[in-house]
This record gives sequence, structure tokens and C-alpha cells, in this order.
Amino acid sequence: MAFEIITKNTVRDRFTSPPRPEIWKDSTDKDWNNWIWQQQKRIKSMDQLEKVIHVTEEERNAFAESHDPNCPIRLQSVPKKGELNILPTDLEDPLAEERDMPVPGVTHRYPDRVLFYTTHNCPVYCRHCTRKRKVSDPSSSAANKQLEDGLAYISSHPEIRDVVISGGDPLSNSDDRLEYILSRLRAMDHIEVFRLGTRNLVTLPQRITDAFASMLKKYHPVFVHTHFNHPKECTQEAFDACARLADAGCIINNQMVLLKGINDDPKVVKLLNHKLLMMRVRPYYIFQCDMSQGISHFRTPIETGLNIIEHLRGWTSGMAVPHYVVDAPGGGGKIPLLPDYLVKRDGKKWVFRNYQRKEFTYIEP
Ligand SMILES: *Cc1c(COP(=O)(O)O)cnc(C)c1O
Ligand code: SF4
Repeated sequence: MAFEIITKNTVRDRFTSPPRPEIWKDSTDKDWNNWIWQQQKRIKSMDQLEKVIHVTEEERNAFAESHDPNCPIRLQSVPKKGELNILPTDLEDPLAEERDMPVPGVTHRYPDRVLFYTTHNCPVYCRHCTRKRKVSDPSSSAANKQLEDGLAYISSHPEIRDVVISGGDPLSNSDDRLEYILSRLRAMDHIEVFRLGTRNLVTLPQRITDAFASMLKKYHPVFVHTHFNHPKECTQEAFDACARLADAGCIINNQMVLLKGINDDPKVVKLLNHKLLMMRVRPYYIFQCDMSQGISHFRTPIETGLNIIEHLRGWTSGMAVPHYVVDAPGGGGKIPLLPDYLVKRDGKKWVFRNYQRKEFTYIEP
């Protein structure tokens, strides 16, 4: 008997992109899909921004979403007064990344892995950025000397097996510079894996060109750690960028930051995580928002994060359940938090409750 093979893959059709803003409506698809064009058209002033989010009356309906003052994209990228409110408990360098720097540009905190800063530029500057102290500051960017010193440090520390290539956004580097970094790391016998910590899948998906993806193939295993915070960021452009990376053999993980008014709702996070899985991205972390300066308006109670995990675990695929972590202020590293599933322990008898709050007893031998 013959089986009919259906080859049409319609998952991508479930992703949508908002209409192109008026000022770019005449751009060709070729321009739109070109990351250099995208980078050049970045919005840098209120003037330009107004051209994008205020539109004429008859277009109002079509562009209704851009008028939403609570749009999660807008809330993450357009600065408001909240940033000027610096609490006495806010910290310039909340994770003490500068303190744990054996050489400028490398944070070595955990036994076997390091953070390696390669640029301080990003396509979009996020309101909630934990590295506000230095992103976009040209005087703090990684010059070639710093890059070489960082590579020399990693090379002379055989205990390092995992390098998180970070920034800023490392994809702000040219393909040539990135390939140089990857090739240097891959040439070190003790380096097993590296990760590109990038938000370009959200902020500039056109950056993931075929040429870039096939360059990565030479340096596998390459992990990509990205930063989607809301299902609305899962556009067709993002879908295609993830597909190019996944097809090239990269393993993609997502690190969401828990943000008040944006994704502090289990329904939003569940939808985001389902979309991520369809994009072949595995939800990895939910970060409690750091105590960086001027972002306290984004911070939620810890309970909010626990409540999100409570509404995911058991109720949906385990693959859609990330770890909820607090990156401890002062450099303590990531601390995982879970709702309490232990009801009581009596010697070898452990009483747990499941996701439906039913109790079960496990007895140790
Ligand atoms: C987050 C982080 C890492 C990577 O941690 P994982 O839990 O392995 O993802 C490494 N170094 C520093 C300093 C970090 O903050
Ligand atoms: S992309 Fe990352 S590093 Fe850049 S501004 Fe946003 S959160 Fe900060």
C-alpha cells in the first residue's frame, strides 16, 4: 500500500509580521531582508520614531497595533521616565561582572566557563538592559588589543571548556571578525563549546544571512543563546532566521527576562514558549529582572516568576518549561527557584504534591 507523503510544511504560516511602517513602505524586499540596510535605517531620534508610530487617520486601523501604548515591543525599546528613577538599592554593575574580570572583557566566575565581551553595540538598545552601564558607549567597546588579551587568557586557562561570546550583541561584529574569534577558540584544545549570546534573532533577524549560517558550520558545536521576551517578537523574519541557524546545525536556547507589564503573565509566557519550540528554540532561562540602575519599574515580585513556573510545569510540554533563576546581586551567580513541591518529609517518607496539587508519597529503600 502506498502512503501519501505530504511535504508542505505550514508551521511558518502561523507566524505573522506587522505591516511595514509607512516611511519604509517603498523599500524592496531585498532591502528589507538586508541587515546592512536595516542597520542603516535604525531609529535614532524622536523625529524618526514619530514617523513610524504616528500614522494618518485612514491608516490608523491597519496600523492599530503601533498605537498601543502597552505594545510589548514599544515598552522594551522606547525610553520613558521610569529610567530616570534610580533607587538607592539599584546597582551600576548588579552582577559584579567587572569585579570578576581577570582581564578586561572576560568575566570568569564559574569553574569551567567564561563570558567574553566582543562589542558594546546592539541593533536596538533595550530599556531593561542589565549592562546599561556600558552598552552603546563607544569608549568602552572591545578594541583589538582587548580581544587579543581575552583570547590569550582563555587560551592559557585549560579549565575553560565553554565560552559565552557576548556584548552588547556579538552579531554587531562583522562576519570576518566573528569568524576570527570562533576560529581562534576552536583552535584551542580545551574549548568544547561556545555560545553566541545574541538578540539579533529578535532585533535584526536579517543579520542571519546564509553566508553567516554556513560560516558557523565550520565551528560546530555552536550554541546560540537568544532573548525573546514576548510572542509578538516571533515574526516570520525571526522564524526564518531561526530556521537558517537550526538548518546549519546550531542549537538555539532562549533566555527571557521577566518584565512587569510585558511578560509577567503565565499565558503570555506559555504562548511565547510554544512559538519558540515551533521555531526550534528551546526555552532555557527565565531571568528575574536584575537590580540595574533605572529599571526597577520593570521588576516584579519573585512570586510572579514562581507563579509562571507553577502554570507551566505539568500543564504543557516539559520542553516549554525553562529554569527560573535569579542572578544573585554581587556576583553570586544564577540561583534556580521552583515552586515548593515538597509537602513534608518524614525520614524515608517524602510527601510531594503534583501540578494539580494532589499529594503522593515516595518511600526511599
Ligand atoms: C550566565 C553566566 C554564564 C553561563 O551560565 P550557564 O548557567 O552555564 O548558562 C557564565 N558566566 C557568567 C559570568 C554568567 O553570568
Ligand atoms: S540586545 Fe542585549 S546587550 Fe543589547 S541592549 Fe538589549 S539586552 Fe542589552
